Amino acid sequence: MATPRRLLARLRETMAHDAAPLHELAELVAAELVSEVCSIYAGRPGEILELVATQGLNQGAIGRTRLRVGEGIVGLCAATGKVMNLPDAQNHPAFAYRPETGEEPFASMLAVPVRRGGHTLGVVAVQNRNPRGYSAEEVDELETVAMLLAEVLASVGAADGAEEGVAATVPRVFSGSSLVPGIAIGPVVLHGALSRPARLLADDPDAELARLQDASRRMQQGLDELFSGVPEGADGTASREVLEAYRLIAADAGWLQRVSEVIRGGLSAEAAVQRVAGELRDRMRRISDPYLRERLADLEDLAGRLLAALAGNVPRPPVPPGAILLARRLGPAELLDWHAAGIAGVAVEEASAGGHAAILARALGLPSVGGTRGMLDSAEPGDEAVVDADDGQLVLRPEAEVRSAYLREMEARRALAAGWAPLRGRPAMTCDGVHVSLMLNVGLTMELAQLDTTGAEGIGLYRTEIGMLARGEIADVAEQAATYSRVLDAAAGRPVLFRTLDLGADKLLPGDAPEEENPAMGWRSLRIGLDRPALLRRQMRALLLAAGGRRLSVMFPMVATVAEFRAAKSLLLAEARRVRPAPEQLEIGTMLEVPALMWQLNELLREVDFVSVGSNDLLQFLFAADRSAPALFNRYDLLSQPVLGLLEQLLVAAKEAKGGAGVPISLCGEAASRPLEALTLVGLGFTSLSMSASGILPVKASLADLDLAAFRPVLASIRRNASGAASLREPISVWAREHGLAV
Ligand code: PEP
Ligand code: MG
Repeated sequence: MATPRRLLARLRETMAHDAAPLHELAELVAAELVSEVCSIYAGRPGEILELVATQGLNQGAIGRTRLRVGEGIVGLCAATGKVMNLPDAQNHPAFAYRPETGEEPFASMLAVPVRRGGHTLGVVAVQNRNPRGYSAEEVDELETVAMLLAEVLASVGAADGAEEGVAATVPRVFSGSSLVPGIAIGPVVLHGALSRPARLLADDPDAELARLQDASRRMQQGLDELFSGVPEGADGTASREVLEAYRLIAADAGWLQRVSEVIRGGLSAEAAVQRVAGELRDRMRRISDPYLRERLADLEDLAGRLLAALAGNVPRPPVPPGAILLARRLGPAELLDWHAAGIAGVAVEEASAGGHAAILARALGLPSVGGTRGMLDSAEPGDEAVVDADDGQLVLRPEAEVRSAYLREMEARRALAAGWAPLRGRPAMTCDGVHVSLMLNVGLTMELAQLDTTGAEGIGLYRTEIGMLARGEIADVAEQAATYSRVLDAAAGRPVLFRTLDLGADKLLPGDAPEEENPAMGWRSLRIGLDRPALLRRQMRALLLAAGGRRLSVMFPMVATVAEFRAAKSLLLAEARRVRPAPEQLEIGTMLEVPALMWQLNELLREVDFVSVGSNDLLQFLFAADRSAPALFNRYDLLSQPVLGLLEQLLVAAKEAKGGAGVPISLCGEAASRPLEALTLVGLGFTSLSMSASGILPVKASLADLDLAAFRPVLASIRRNASGAASLREPISVWAREHGLAV
């Protein structure tokens, strides 16, 4: 058996003449692996594998022998992505006899899939007369050959215009859930994808091993720095254990050893890491135990870090215009990065509508789907994809007719949206003349232009933490004041409700390792603010400075008790006594997100100037249902008896509060931006809603057709007759459609 290095050196020579003919490769591999036969099969459109080169079989079979994926041993190898190592291939149940090949004399067979990214591009197989099993070393060599062959097949495919490989030719649809409605079509870019190594083979393995060692040391250092910020102690123990486990894996000699072995075989350090990462990915697909899957996922993540260290953290390549971003998981800060690079749509394998990346995507108007599991295994950068976020699916490599149907639909929507344009300058009114104030949810100053493009009446929720997440740190007082002042300037007298920092749960600054089992119910938001009053007071000072004598409205997130509200309010009042000029008017309100406040309404409504219902968190806590768990997506409905009952009780109490003067109530959760929910909330008595920009015109358009006086008794009767139904969506939407409302 030839040493892999010798084989690779010969391959390198052969491939140096650019388009190495495949038959030369087959000849070389057969000779070096001491096999009578080496055959190369390439994927063709329609899930077909075609014999494209062979040493040892009849040359007349080239281009004639074609197998379906799944047919014969070669087809099975392509279908399963597994190595087939068979001493007696002809008696294997899958064996498919092809007389034109003349393969009768050959008993044993080793077939290895040729994979690139998530795709199987073909199969390379060797055969021998004597029945024998191939050694682990031989399997390893043929796998290395397959890795090189993948590059050759991909470039050959590109050159002759043939589509790329087996899986790559097949359209696939992945179902998930809608995070932000809309449709987008474009080329795929992958979040966190390992970029293809520029160099596959290396002349000097010792130099490559030294590079690997150096990169691995730098990766370890990076991890140490990353983890050093995580506190020790009773509460931190669990997270430390996890981090320690991760660190152990990072330092684990086993997988680095494996990478070193592959380097010694003649691959570059980058190619070796990718090769081992690919093996891990294949193993991961076959493992169902969640703990082991996580460990393997850690390893894959580490492989990415190691590659970044090898590359010296090169910047991301440019994003093609209108690209569709595919990610396993995505944080808000990462989404912002990609948005700045110009993506048009997003699909995330693990995400749900309530998560902050989804909220941000909504604010940015990026059609997005979540829960589209398995897509990353099939997608390749540059593949075309459709995010159909209305049906909650990702269509990969759409057929031509499907693609043009989507393009027609997008065109129709542009026309519909253009029809809403006249509504922009008008206040939202029901057709029987009730005014509803529609406000914007904003998190970034770049969204301020939407005040004018949508004709919103003000900002009903300014999420101050989003800007900090985008920059990756908490800004100082002067910087914060400058930002808030720009917001007030842009609002030009329209109301702005600033919400103090709502960090924690899924809104973590980089370096903040989650250290709690249930971060959504953990140390987050106002709880952090009250425990670290200096942080909160600095923000309050910045807000007061920004107001510079103008009217200022501030509210606190995640208030659970009246005492917490009072504590936060007194911090704000203390700051307000120090800052000059004092605001012309200072309004202090609360978010209502924690159900416990419902049993403190009397005291609460005496103390607050306004209440804004955060229905995203409120539903999460009311139904004990994690807002970012994809499995719970759409399981519990705002349009349901318990939520509408709670909201009505709140509206009644607010109306009677302060001796009948009342306390203003609005709702700023994502539900407000959906026309059916918005109509129902208005039917219940809300006259102020705050939503993402994409919701304003559609909600305005459907309110314009709503006869509120007629709807109120209908809603009341639907609620009365609900008799335990989990959702009232169906009867409400039936009524709305019958009355010509666009919902
Ligand atoms: C909410 O919880 O409804 C809300 C508006 O706040 P956030 O989505 O930022 O948690
Ligand atoms: Mg909230």
